[in-house]
Parts: sequence; C-alpha cells; structure tokens
Amino acid sequence: MMRRMTWIAAGLAALLGIAGLAEGVARAAEPLAKTLFGAQRLPAAAAPKSYGFYSKGCFAGGVAIGVDGPNWQAMRLSRNRRWGHPAMIATLEKLSREAAADGWPGLLIGDISQPRGGPMLTGHASHQIGLDADIWFTPMPDHRLSESEREKLGAESMLKGDSLYVDDRKWTPAHAAVLKRAASYKEVERILVHPGIKKKLCDTVQGDRTWLRKVRPFWGHDAHFHVRIGCQPGSVGCKAQDAVPKGDGCDKSLAWWFTEEPWRPATGPAQPRARDIMTMASLPRECRAVLDAAAPASETAVTVHGRAAQAAVAPVTAAASAGAAQAGRTVGEVISELGYAPLPERGVPLPKPRPDR
Ligand SMILES: [Zn+2]
Repeated sequence: MMRRMTWIAAGLAALLGIAGLAEGVARAAEPLAKTLFGAQRLPAAAAPKSYGFYSKGCFAGGVAIGVDGPNWQAMRLSRNRRWGHPAMIATLEKLSREAAADGWPGLLIGDISQPRGGPMLTGHASHQIGLDADIWFTPMPDHRLSESEREKLGAESMLKGDSLYVDDRKWTPAHAAVLKRAASYKEVERILVHPGIKKKLCDTVQGDRTWLRKVRPFWGHDAHFHVRIGCQPGSVGCKAQDAVPKGDGCDKSLAWWFTEEPWRPATGPAQPRARDIMTMASLPRECRAVLDAAAPASETAVTVHGRAAQAAVAPVTAAASAGAAQAGRTVGEVISELGYAPLPERGVPLPKPRPDR
C-alpha cells in the first residue's frame, strides 16, 4: 500500500513537474538526514571539524555553551541547539564579555547548532556546521530566567509595526555597539540583520564605517542577529562562503530590499524545503562517521561556562581530572583536556549509489 502510494505520489509530482518533490518521494525509504541528526543528544567525541557548507553539512567535536554564563543566558533550552564548534562557542563567550564591558547587559543566546550539526527538524537552513549563532536584540534581563521563561519569552522585533523600518523607540546606540563589537572579530565573516536594521546603521553610524561591510541584510533577523564565523583551521572539509562584497553595503544592494521584489510571494508550485528531502547521501560522506562516532561521557563534560564562572567541567580523561575543580578555564583548556581523538579515517562508509530510474 505504502509503495503504491509512493508511486502515485511520485507520478503525480512528475506530472506536475515538481522535480524536487518527485526525488524526495522516491527517496522516502531512506531516512531523512534531519531525523538522524535531530535525534542526537550529544556531540561526536572527535577532534573539532566542520564538514560541508553552512546549509549542508555537520560537525564533530562540538561543545555546548552553558545555560548561564557571567554575561549570557541561553534560550529555548528544549531545542538542544546550544552546540557549536569550539571556536564559535569561544567567540560567543568573548562577545558576551566584551559587549558587557561596552555596556550591553548580556547576551540572550538563541540557536547555535544541534550536537552534531546537520539539518534540523524545524527552522534554519544553515546552522549545520557549528559556525552560526543567533543572538537576540532583546538585552538580557537582570534576573536569571526560569526554564519556562526561556521557552515562552519572545524576542522583540526592532521594526515599527509591519514596516521595513526600525522603531526608534526600540533601537538604541547599544544595539549598534554590540553589532560593531561582533563585526570587529577577525573570525566573524558575516552578521545577518533585517534590511531595516542595516539601513538604520547606514544612516546613523559615524566615524569608522568599515565594520558595516560584514553586516548584511537578510529576511527575518529583525528580532535577532546571526553571527557566522569562517571555516576553522583543521577543517579541510569545510566549504567557505563567498567573501562579502567590498564597501559598506549601504548601496544599491541595500536599496533592492526596499523595492517590491524581495517581498513578492513566490509563484509557481511550492518547492519542498531542502531539509525535507536531504538524506545522508546529500551530505559530505564524513557526516556518516560523525553520526556513528561515540559521544563524550556527559553533556557537562563538554559544556563551557565562561572564564568568570566556576568550571563545572567533569573530567573525561585521567589527565583532565586533576584540573577539573579549577575555576575559570578557557574553551581551549576545556578542549585540550577532553582528549578528543580524530575520527577514524578508515571505515567511513561510502555513499550508496542510488539506482537509476
Ligand atoms: Zn540564524
């Protein structure tokens, strides 16, 4: 019955010329990559490496940012997306500290990645290789949020009503300062914000404007900004993104966002989302090894709490146990103590050839 329905659906899709859907239906027997990666609770205990592209890949050696840090609180804990490449987590920890010194009350951290990256069951085309993170424009409140507040509290849009423009009652110089701080980091290649926010920066930033180049307009991102760092050393399988265009971006590329075109509803048959058709065959082959790799001893063992916090990093190796009670260790120290081994080079299964149809 199932098979017949599949064929009918495939035939129908082919008839309608929805190639992607037909392919998706034909592959339905293979589990979707989002299901496999979405089920992972802990990272792959291996040397930190990103494989593939931001929107098509996975990563090993992930660490989690603590639920609470001296200058941050993580949101939506139920999603289990507090995981990233150690360099991403280190960048967030540094930003939280330096933004606090600039006067920002602290970061509310949204989604980073799943423990082993990969496509997600819901939301986000990117965030797959541990090098993307969302940070709310809402400043951190002065109290520790309860778990349910972290689920229910909404990030406030910076826009005025349904317009494409920033609400000046919400936007402050401190918002611009936290973006500037993030853009100042060498490892940060792009920061995505709503076009209205980019425009606000273009219209108001005085003095040094070079950092505006990294701040790029994109749909969404009116209540949070998205920080993307580059491929990290040692990740040979990581595919770099295109360099940001030269200049501050306050040009016709921004003006385009204020035309009708980007907001026009799509015409033609609906295309399935990539995450709804991607199987393991769509991802770099190393992602199978990432999926199969052993997990670290516990989540605590691979959680980063920040310099000023009491380290709650449990020992996972004999060498680590000696220093485990020490407070305030850096991400680098945590990683080196984990003694993560590289993924085995052999035994990486080759992608199964798909039968021709
Ligand atoms: Zn994002």
